[in-house]
Amino acid sequence: MVSRLIPVDPFDLVIFGGTGDLARRKILPGLFRRFCSGQMPEGSQIVGAARTELSDDEYRQMVSDAVAEFGGGRACEEGTLDAFLKTVSYVTTDAKGDGGWVELHGKMRDATVRAFYFSVAPSLFGDLAERLHRFGLATPDSRIVLEKPFGHDLATAKALNATLAQHFNETQIYRIDHYLGKETVQNLMAVRFGNMLFEPLWNAQYVDHIQITVAETVGVGGRGSYYDKSGAMRDMVQNHLMQLLCLIAMEPPAKFEPDAVRDEKLKVIRALEPVDWHHIVRGQYGAGDNGPSYREDVEDPKSRTESFIAMKCHISNWRWAGTPFYLRTGKRLKARASEIAVVFKDAPHSIFGADAGRHRNVLAIRLQPNEGMTLDVTIKEPGPGGMRLVDVPLDMSFADALGPEAEEVPDAYERLIMDVIRGNQTLFMRGDEVEAAWAWTDPLIEGWQARHDVPKTYDPGSSGPEDALMLMHRDGRKWREVKA
Ligand code: NAD
Repeated sequence: MVSRLIPVDPFDLVIFGGTGDLARRKILPGLFRRFCSGQMPEGSQIVGAARTELSDDEYRQMVSDAVAEFGGGRACEEGTLDAFLKTVSYVTTDAKGDGGWVELHGKMRDATVRAFYFSVAPSLFGDLAERLHRFGLATPDSRIVLEKPFGHDLATAKALNATLAQHFNETQIYRIDHYLGKETVQNLMAVRFGNMLFEPLWNAQYVDHIQITVAETVGVGGRGSYYDKSGAMRDMVQNHLMQLLCLIAMEPPAKFEPDAVRDEKLKVIRALEPVDWHHIVRGQYGAGDNGPSYREDVEDPKSRTESFIAMKCHISNWRWAGTPFYLRTGKRLKARASEIAVVFKDAPHSIFGADAGRHRNVLAIRLQPNEGMTLDVTIKEPGPGGMRLVDVPLDMSFADALGPEAEEVPDAYERLIMDVIRGNQTLFMRGDEVEAAWAWTDPLIEGWQARHDVPKTYDPGSSGPEDALMLMHRDGRKWREVKA
């Protein structure tokens, strides 16, 4: 299988927050890998812009260190890093002041695609948008890329959309959810809409339920003060899990084009029913051998913010009425594993009798680790002894399927940045989508705040609180094991 490299036009990419953690860990190493692959055309430049005083050479050293630390294992020809660093420069720029902006303007060229990556705290998004406009850096074709979180609730998301709209059209705004850049997530659409096999079964008549799990082993670490104001609902469900839910549940768009896809996603969010509070379980990790408790991590012994949430949701439309979607995400769980599982209904009648047991087809889509898919198929247990049934997985690991080329599959950030340069918004969230997601999320949060709900403590290294298991057991179902 040969991967095709689709070239992009030469570009000027300004990274506001170019000295920050995200820039060093993801954006800059990702750009270097695209450069190695030959996808960053000659005549492109990357400009780091942040408050720290740095010379071009000091910044290049920082970029070089970041590539060495986070660059990934791809082979690059000798000398490539030096060539890449020649495309990099730096301007000390203050998002809240006027320093640096004229110099930044002087670096922009007319004939190239212009993109501004806002890799800074969201409180600076408005300032950056306003100054890009005032200092004449924003052209009608310029793009801005916004990191999460996009708002803290519906009111703040609306205010932010309104601020950006003063200076940029919706077609210029790229709200990143890096989950959408993952290979498997896009494969989800290929599997659904490129095959005849699944789509006829993809509805309440044949699907018993769908589970979406995003499990992390890490705690809140150094992000405690941010996280405690947010929690798993705002940090993970409102964006990442909601996006996965949309792709799983949406109707086939007429075309794989930005607004066609985003219109269908929006319909799913709008069809989500409010969740009954009995169907929400919130948790906080306790202390364990390898670390402090959540409350110790955030230095608030009374914190009621959830580091884990599980919930049962329903989508009110013809396709999904009656099929529950179980979502779960949390920190300090037993494995780092993200998976979507489509659990099909039992065969309507077992010709093999009660002894054959209960068997179900499950299509599991693994997002991490080992991106790939598994389809559990029921077959006869091999050997003598009558007709006993057993489930065996048809396993497609992308690493196996693609061989050495799997190494070349761009990571989510690389792909999404290249999409920005191409002007393709398909994998980015539209403003109305984000607002609809908050409109569904806000009342749930307000509900547990009004009830003074206290999250259940769970053991680090477990699958979350007991109540989360009960959420499924009560319905005669069970979560799939969280395993790497
Ligand atoms: P960070 O604190 O490491 O870096 C912030 C950057 O902003 C620095 O380069 C700093 O110099 C710059 N900055 C601060 N104030 C400035 C000002 N007034 N003018 C110009 N530059 C200024 O933060 P980060 O972890 O890199 O996160 C950046 C954004 O990305 C945030 O919105 C965060 O929520 C989001 N994000 C980060 C991650 C991650 O893994 N780090 C993941 C998802 C989203």
